[in-house]
Amino acid sequence: MLVVKKFGGTSVGSPERILNVARRCVEDYRKGYDVVVVLSAMGKTTDELIKLAHTVNNRPPKRELDMLMTTGEQVSVAMMAIAMDAMGVRAVSLNAFQVAMHTTSKYGSARLKRIDTDRIMHELEDRKIVLVTGFQGVNKYDDLTTLGRGGSDTTAVALAAALHADACEIYTDVDGVYTADPRHVPTARKLKEITYDEMLELATLGAGVLHNRSVEMAKKYGVVLVVRSSLNLSEGTVVKENAKMERMLISGVAVDKDADRISVIGLKDQPGVAFRLFDVLAKANVNVDMILQSIGRDGTKDISFTCSNGDMDDAVRAIEANRERLQYKEINFNEDVAKVSIVGAGMMTNPGVAAKMFEALYNEDININMISTSEIRVTVLIDEKDADRAANAVHDAFGLAE
Ligand code: ASP
Ligand code: MG
Repeated sequence: MLVVKKFGGTSVGSPERILNVARRCVEDYRKGYDVVVVLSAMGKTTDELIKLAHTVNNRPPKRELDMLMTTGEQVSVAMMAIAMDAMGVRAVSLNAFQVAMHTTSKYGSARLKRIDTDRIMHELEDRKIVLVTGFQGVNKYDDLTTLGRGGSDTTAVALAAALHADACEIYTDVDGVYTADPRHVPTARKLKEITYDEMLELATLGAGVLHNRSVEMAKKYGVVLVVRSSLNLSEGTVVKENAKMERMLISGVAVDKDADRISVIGLKDQPGVAFRLFDVLAKANVNVDMILQSIGRDGTKDISFTCSNGDMDDAVRAIEANRERLQYKEINFNEDVAKVSIVGAGMMTNPGVAAKMFEALYNEDININMISTSEIRVTVLIDEKDADRAANAVHDAFGLAE
């Protein structure tokens, strides 16, 4: 039995918690399992390192920032090995270079390409617990890279796939995947199982439990994931290809208050207009999410779209700087909007799911500004002040409440 266990920053946030994680891993090791542990940086270390870099340069070179950030995970694995040694257990800490985790070149958002398993297998055969740094890799220049914030989940899944692990357990500070954020929806409950596709939608919507690339990778390689808490023994949520639907239409409700809306009014109603607008936005590196185009009237039309709050200023600036090329009458924007989404594989085969959501919002007298859908998701854009009320109403309307 080979298990890959990943522990997030909160789970290793203090010496006591490191000892707690060490104990949990040693328990499996003493059962005779081969144990590979992937760790994130302790607590808020990564944030602090980024801040530290900015104290000397407000535009730190990406290569050096990766060099700096990767130290965080190195502290964690070394500390864990030291803790395990105190328990009389043989453990070895390895960074991305020592394992040889090959990534693409791009600093700050590199992608894993290949993991050499020789060193890890050799250490396991030697009956050691192997502790691997999450979030980092090595590119073709032999430089350290990082996989993007939250990337340790992806390291764990990639390792589980490469090692053909029997289990991949993601330990975090919540009990598992919930039908909604329990801080805002008090009736939310933990799901026993969820499909990769549903989890991917939820992760992309910012549910925060798993890095979305880790879910993509788990689906691709068929790695079954268990998401559970490092702080208690509760069972957690299994993420896999086919989950029993527990006879529910939808599995979760997600709220994203980070969304902003921009509307470009009075564009010419002719071919190439949408292309030019989104080309301008793409060149400004703005990630556009929902898009709505009005029906043309009097030879003009309006296009609205949403983006994250962080991209808002760049988007407005880029559109204004291209006023002549785009030829619009005016632009307006609203930061006080939020996306509320329902996600569920059940909606592929059941009609009326969107209607039920809209009815729940209507009952609460909540107005919908924009709508977008995928096969297993319906998203509405509403006023931010209504977001939590909407989430509760929709959640309970679908019978997700505890
Ligand atoms: N420490 C890194 C971060 O904060 C990676 C991770 O925690 O997954 O983004
Ligand atoms: Mg995380």
